[in-house]
Amino acid sequence: MSRYETVIGLEVHAQLKTQTKIFCSCSTKFGVDPNENVCPVCSGMPGVLPVLNEKVAEFATKMGLATNCEINLKSVFARKNYFYPDLPKGYQISQFELPICEHGHVDIEVDGEKKRIGLTRIHMEEDAGKNIHSAADNASFVDLNRTGVPLIEIVSEPDMRSAEEAVAYLKEIRSVLLYLGICDGNLEEGSFRCDANISIRPYGQEEFGTRAELKNLNSFKHILKAIEYEVERQIDVIEDGDEVVQETRLYNADKGTTHSMRSKEEAHDYRYFPDPDLVPLILESTWVKKWQEELPELPSAKRARFMEEYKIADYDAALLTSELVIAEYYEAASRAYGGEAKKVTNWVVGELLPFCHDTETLACDCMLTPTRLGELLHLVDDGTISVKIGKDIFRDLCESGDSPTEFVKAKGLAQMSDSGELEAMVDQVIADSPKEVEAYKAGKTKLMGFFMGQVMRLSKGQANPGVVTKLFQEKLS
Ligand code: ADP
Ligand code: MG
Ligand code: ZN
Repeated sequence: MSRYETVIGLEVHAQLKTQTKIFCSCSTKFGVDPNENVCPVCSGMPGVLPVLNEKVAEFATKMGLATNCEINLKSVFARKNYFYPDLPKGYQISQFELPICEHGHVDIEVDGEKKRIGLTRIHMEEDAGKNIHSAADNASFVDLNRTGVPLIEIVSEPDMRSAEEAVAYLKEIRSVLLYLGICDGNLEEGSFRCDANISIRPYGQEEFGTRAELKNLNSFKHILKAIEYEVERQIDVIEDGDEVVQETRLYNADKGTTHSMRSKEEAHDYRYFPDPDLVPLILESTWVKKWQEELPELPSAKRARFMEEYKIADYDAALLTSELVIAEYYEAASRAYGGEAKKVTNWVVGELLPFCHDTETLACDCMLTPTRLGELLHLVDDGTISVKIGKDIFRDLCESGDSPTEFVKAKGLAQMSDSGELEAMVDQVIADSPKEVEAYKAGKTKLMGFFMGQVMRLSKGQANPGVVTKLFQEKLS
């Protein structure tokens, strides 16, 4: 047990899924030619004026409402001044003193323990462009397609105490964004970015330690590893009698280490001030009310309802509601099947989710539709196929889109329940295994497993185990 407690606060940048940019009518479409989506406003020409995209205010407010924030009916855009080639205006329009949302929270659960994480604020801002460095051309290029794409920044309180809590928090935030349909939540492509502020302090000390800010974290696995590495590094620094310095550090995924990018001395003074080109944003309370009414059922509420309605465990409910498409698949499959929800849970959690994970398929794109999963479960229930066969053919069904009934028929997989055919096999096994038969009759009933195995071998796994057991019991008693 370490003497030190870890303290983590997270800043998340979420790219909003609007059609157009935050202050101009340029498209936000991804994957077009460089500098195709630019205009005088987002390329920072003199004499132009920004106009706020109403959708950005709606999406930011919805995220605030979904995370229990207070909504500031008046909020103010500010200029954050710095120089960089991907920032044509020389400043980023963001919110500083008066953000649109403040004082929220989300609840997370780690190892069965529930915990509330505070949200300091959510504010709106514009994204910067992209510098592209080309060794082949011995030159650098600037692509402004991303300049002016809307972001919300979600800043947490320093409430997390382990890397696991940090990841649980990020998964919850991402899940809420996806449920709201306002961000596609892709860490690798950068539509969901996270900076992690980390410090340590001796247990019992009230004051926080000096923090380092980690950047370049583009998967949950990297986030976990980067935080763990950084905590160990800070402990080593302190144990060596040195002090942790406040700085920004980059995570190197290949090495699993972090290294200094810039220290506090080199830190920017952004000279924030209210943007004179933009009036304060005043939200009508009737809009906020309407947006509140438009909120979907959120992950935490759905989780609670699943536990109640389908009588499933906390853990399963969390898995099934982690993504909206999975939750929708599950509910549709439960309706289609109509039987015990527990069985649908087992097949979705045990078979479908691993398939989706391994093949990077979304549940909604799986060829085994919820209706077909219901059909498959009925085939198992009525003894047409065994559970084992059902599991064996599951992935084929997910990929082929065949009807389970047709597939089982075409491949001749239906379970043998015909006692005449099975009786012949049972008789053969009895004739071939006189020693085992004798031992069984003498009381070694465990040998039933052996007999069953022999019949399964002869029937290529298709014998109905119930019928076979009964036949053996009749013949050997
Ligand atoms: P900045 O704007 O310089 O990044 P903020 O004060 O806004 O700084 O804090 C940014 C993030 O750092 C917040 O998520 C906050 O919770 C977290 N944070 C602040 N102090 C600490 C600390 N000592 N240890 C860990 N995280 C911290
Ligand atoms: Mg910061
Ligand atoms: Zn533009």
